[in-house]
Amino acid sequence: MDMRKIAIIGSTGSIGTQTLDVVRANDDLEVVALAAGNNVELLEKQVRQFRPRLACVSKEDKAKELSLRIKDTDTKVLCGMEGLLEIATMPESEILVTAIMGMIGIRPTIAAIEAGKDIALANKETLVTAGHIIMPLAKEKNVSILPVDSEHSAIFQCLQGEKREQVSKLIITASGGPFRGRRKEELKNIQVEDALKHPNWVMGRKITIDSSTLVNKGLEVIEAKWLFGMELEDIQVVVHPQSVIHSMVEFKDGAIIAQLGTPDMKLPIQYALYYPDRKFLAGDRLDFAKLKTMTFEAPDMENFRGLALAIEASKTGGSMPTVFNAANELAVAKFLDKKIKYLEIIDIIEDAMKGHKVIQNPKVEEILGVEQQVYEYIEGRW
Ligand code: NDP
Repeated sequence: MDMRKIAIIGSTGSIGTQTLDVVRANDDLEVVALAAGNNVELLEKQVRQFRPRLACVSKEDKAKELSLRIKDTDTKVLCGMEGLLEIATMPESEILVTAIMGMIGIRPTIAAIEAGKDIALANKETLVTAGHIIMPLAKEKNVSILPVDSEHSAIFQCLQGEKREQVSKLIITASGGPFRGRRKEELKNIQVEDALKHPNWVMGRKITIDSSTLVNKGLEVIEAKWLFGMELEDIQVVVHPQSVIHSMVEFKDGAIIAQLGTPDMKLPIQYALYYPDRKFLAGDRLDFAKLKTMTFEAPDMENFRGLALAIEASKTGGSMPTVFNAANELAVAKFLDKKIKYLEIIDIIEDAMKGHKVIQNPKVEEILGVEQQVYEYIEGRW
């Protein structure tokens, strides 16, 4: 049997653990490396089950702890960015699953592409901030960037067998989040616990907050622009609260192709790992008799400014999407720590974008430099 060898960064998170569920259900997938942040306990369990050659955690003390816990195994323990880069480029792996959260994914993703690995990309923040570097590099190195984000996987599936120049528009669906229909005044006193309840998907904490502010949809629009080489004007967001249509593509002749299914991230993960093949996936099938209705509405960009600001950042281009993204990453962390109020997430992003002097076509070091500047700016003011 031909084994498909995969490395996963962010293996202890929502996407990471679901990727491992897919691996468990398929005996032709082999995990050669796992990387986590701080969750040593879960990583130990994963190492014992999957026996990867490499395992990485974010800090030295955690690496020591993991080494002690798994000293009876053959897995080598690594630490920090150096460890992520070693995993990204290890000779054994064919595909890197980027299930890590945030801009920390930029360097490992680029290193993996340079080493000729295909990327199963969940880590959207990387494309949002460095899409102008990653997409041309992937083309040059002849590697595939396979979307894991459900909307992008849907679009990717709708595009199979079609000619790029015959596409007229991408239509990204959005659930609208838990606060759909509320006005800004009604969002003032939202607590962390309220924002962590997503109507249709169970996800990591940061992306769940991003979904509630529509920042996530904004990040997805920018991600789609890079992944599919589209103009911003040709990417439309439509709110579809049932999350049954995962996204659509409109063609020149007016035909629209959609991808539908029950919400389950294992489908896009598995599709990315086996592309272009489809494999059996256990789970509920869509029952149209039970579903009865699907509804659609325009996104509310006035009360939920996250999407509008993302579009503005992408239109400005250069380093502005990095400012949008970095400000959001820090603001959401502060909200989750109960240091700021819900509506301040958007105020912080807007404030950081206002003060920024755009760098055109930023290099990786400049992107990471802007990220630091944004953090310092916000820390100095909020
Ligand atoms: P989670 O918060 O659930 O998981 C994040 C993962 O990254 C964890 O394994 C965490 O480790 C790890 N991590 C965090 N910081 C570091 C670090 N410094 N070094 C190494 N590892 C680190 O996030 P999600 O799984 O929800 O999201 C991951 C990415 O996928 C995000 O970019 C998100 O936007 C995207 N995505 C997620 C979807 C979902 O359904 N969840 C859907 C589509 C996209 P630990 O927990 O051990 O600290």
